[in-house]
Amino acid sequence: MAQVCARCHTEFRGAYAFGLYWCKVDRFFVCRRCWEESCGEGHGSGAKSLSFRGISALGILAIITVLAAPWAGMIAYDYSVLREWTAAPIVPIADLRVGQTAKVAGVIVSNSSIVFGGREVDTDGGWVWSWYATGSFSVTDGSGTVFATMERWWEVAPGLHLAPNAVRTSGTVYMSGDRVYMMANVASRADGTLVLVVRILSPSPANPEPDPILLAFIALLVGPLIPLWLWAGVWWHGRAALHRRAVTGIPPVRILEGAYRNPNLSWRPNRKSISVGQRKYVAIGLVAIFAALVYLTTFLLNLHERSDEVASVLVISFGGLMLVVLPTLWVLYGGGLPSAVAFSERGFHLWYDNPYERQLNDDFIPWAQIAKIEFVDAGRYEKYWYLERTTGEGEDLEKLSAENLRALTAEWKRRTEAPPQGGPAASDS
Ligand SMILES: [Zn+2]
Ligand SMILES: [Zn+2]
Repeated sequence: MAQVCARCHTEFRGAYAFGLYWCKVDRFFVCRRCWEESCGEGHGSGAKSLSFRGISALGILAIITVLAAPWAGMIAYDYSVLREWTAAPIVPIADLRVGQTAKVAGVIVSNSSIVFGGREVDTDGGWVWSWYATGSFSVTDGSGTVFATMERWWEVAPGLHLAPNAVRTSGTVYMSGDRVYMMANVASRADGTLVLVVRILSPSPANPEPDPILLAFIALLVGPLIPLWLWAGVWWHGRAALHRRAVTGIPPVRILEGAYRNPNLSWRPNRKSISVGQRKYVAIGLVAIFAALVYLTTFLLNLHERSDEVASVLVISFGGLMLVVLPTLWVLYGGGLPSAVAFSERGFHLWYDNPYERQLNDDFIPWAQIAKIEFVDAGRYEKYWYLERTTGEGEDLEKLSAENLRALTAEWKRRTEAPPQGGPAASDS
């Protein structure tokens, strides 16, 4: 992905391609520097003609989609499985084939009376009945008999008999002689006999039912996203066409990777920032973590039980997603800090290791242009050091280390206060 600024024709690649501003007056995309200098931050109409918010909104929309998709996917999975379960025709045991997922009806045949049960578990929400992950029995339906195992059950409806070990809950058990309905994967043993790996077990063919609330929930999650994405597509397509018209036929200006900083200045190290090369690896790393989380979530859910019973897994994966999304945002939009600063007789120099940041930021502020350096205290979360130029332009100084900020303030004060009038500085060379 590459995008060219319609004013300076610099080519921006990767995350920077998404950082261009849409000028509503010129009707094309410009870089931050051109937005500030050539477009005058909106051609006199101020931030109103800035449509950077459109691009930010796209980013937020993408994040919401990434977060909503696993939830919607799992709920949709639940719903579709339960729908399939209630709607599927019953397959006679004699007709079962390996690899098939089939609904089977039959009577439990076993030597032990209780074939499948559970135990009471103390949870934060009180005592609940928890089915065992063990249990196996034969089922017969007149056409044949097949062995069934409960080790991978996904949903179990209450059985027909109260469990003898249930004291605090109304836990139930399945017993020999019960008529049951099952949704199962048909597997085969080493000797070729078939095994039903039961996913859903119930005394009734229509219970558990797919809940229409699940559908409403999906509609609530996904519903607003579809028109928003359509709107975003139209928004982007229209602007991309106008922008293309503005830059067609003009050769893009490549960013200079190998620039060097002035060796005659004595550079002071500033805050560490992430380089273009590192960004790539961080991005790859974050995508890998994200993929692993998605895989882990689906794996854990598929292992056992319905998704609505694995809320903790959802909470963990949601937290994990936030852990991925926040650093991604930081990598995409936070990055560029000056890696070194220097003071000269002429002014304050900044050096960015990242060539895109060199293109987008001023590398020099003359002493004479600094109107004031002050600490802005506008509420709890808006405290920052700020430099105002005589031109009215502002510069956030949070990108400086505390030490460099102190040095800058001291240097500037020394130069503006020490020589009392006396005309222009004499020693500039
Ligand atoms: Zn530009
Ligand atoms: Zn403009």
